Amino acid sequence: MSEDTRARAEALRQDVRRFCRDVLPAGLRAKSQRHQVLDKDDYQQWMRLLQEQGWAVGHWPREHGGLAWSPLERFVFEDELARHGCPWVIPFGVKYVGPVIYAFGSEAQQQRFLPKIVNNEEFWAQGYSEPEAGSDLAALRTTAVRDGDHYIVNGQKVWTTYAHWADWLFCLVRTDREARPQNGISFLLIDMKSPGVTVKEIRTMDGYRHVNEVWLEDVRVPVGNLVGEEGGGWTYAKYLLKNERTAGACIGMAWHALHRLRELAQQVQASQPSQPSQPSQPSQPAHRVEPCGCGRPVDDGLLRNRIGMLELRYLALEKTAYRAVGAMMDGTENGGEASLIKLRGTELYQDIAESLVDLLGAAGIAFDPAALHSAGLPPLGPDDAGGIVKDHFYNRAATVFGGSSEIQRNIIAKAVLGL
Ligand SMILES: Cc1cc2nc3c(=O)[nH]c(=O)nc-3n(C[C@H](O)[C@H](O)[C@H](O)COP(=O)(O)OP(=O)(O)OC[C@H]3O[C@@H](n4cnc5c(N)ncnc54)[C@H](O)[C@@H]3O)c2cc1C
Repeated sequence: MSEDTRARAEALRQDVRRFCRDVLPAGLRAKSQRHQVLDKDDYQQWMRLLQEQGWAVGHWPREHGGLAWSPLERFVFEDELARHGCPWVIPFGVKYVGPVIYAFGSEAQQQRFLPKIVNNEEFWAQGYSEPEAGSDLAALRTTAVRDGDHYIVNGQKVWTTYAHWADWLFCLVRTDREARPQNGISFLLIDMKSPGVTVKEIRTMDGYRHVNEVWLEDVRVPVGNLVGEEGGGWTYAKYLLKNERTAGACIGMAWHALHRLRELAQQVQASQPSQPSQPSQPSQPAHRVEPCGCGRPVDDGLLRNRIGMLELRYLALEKTAYRAVGAMMDGTENGGEASLIKLRGTELYQDIAESLVDLLGAAGIAFDPAALHSAGLPPLGPDDAGGIVKDHFYNRAATVFGGSSEIQRNIIAKAVLGL
């Protein structure tokens, strides 16, 4: 990796830090850092702020409005935002369907859709998963049958994140039932206002509406909304999935949560009455764990050990992630890197989140989703206690979405061990 590449990535990191300090509105920052519920307006504002810097599509090629970031810049950008506890970069337009459209879409599709993705004027959702076709995506059964210059689409999608906010759905459909499962799939862009589209809410265990069922009944989709070749959808779907597992956010989120864990440990420690010294016990060694290089040491031995173990896992993950980015830039990837980081990153994050909830004590047991929408009643514990519990509940899903941990292990086994 050249010095120039490193220098550009470091300059971007500094710019992102400045942005988080000087540009990000305090209200949005506070809501996000406390894991409160962000609504569509919050996300619209957030994505607009990013795009004012040119960053929402920084990884796109310049001819489509991007900054042609290197993999390292992309990594650093996501890492730094997540370290500051910023909202996530809503991926469906800028990370997922946008690149598919500029790589495989027609000229007309590029002109129609890309500017509105760049300017955040249209909200997208991802219609891949179906009942009994999640990990085994090629088993999907939603059909699209050609009728003149339209396709007639029938079927059901499930777990569709933000479908209730979406203007458009990019959707995998079966256009050939006779072909090999992967060959009969096509990639369609469906206007959510089309007659026959019904969105039904699914409540997740954190009490909120993130995901939905999307029912498609005789939905007429113009043939002009087919991306690429009919039957070529599997290729485009896989191209898109590569963008689903980018590592930066995973690393930054773990760092941010570790930092919060350390802070909370200190708050708990400070709130406990000091114990009289017990001369019969051997004195503790001077060694103190300093996760993430922040704050004062933690005195409780068991807690210190727990934080230290998480910290070690974090450091190993961070090192692996930088090695993977380097391999990506040198063209020496083995194909398992993204899966390894997704697997270890989500599992680590879940363990940190669980430690945070444990440390909250009684405040980690009480959970009132409604209180997260407004200032309401004073919280039992620290004022982000409700958000910590909500985040813990929601992130149980992180080892399922974007490819479950078992599927990541299968990919690693194949790519790295050749099994
Ligand atoms: C919060 C959330 C948001 C989501 N958002 C979206 C979205 O916006 N759009 C979208 O299209 N989808 C979305 N998904 C769906 C997600 O991609 C699927 O849930 C995921 O692919 C798993 O599929 P499944 O739920 O059908 O489980 P299944 O595939 O039925 O798996 C069930 C269990 O079996 C295991 N398993 C399955 N196959 C194998 C195998 N070959 N080897 C070993 N173990 C296996 C899995 O690991 C899992 O533990 C979302 C899911 C969640 C939870």
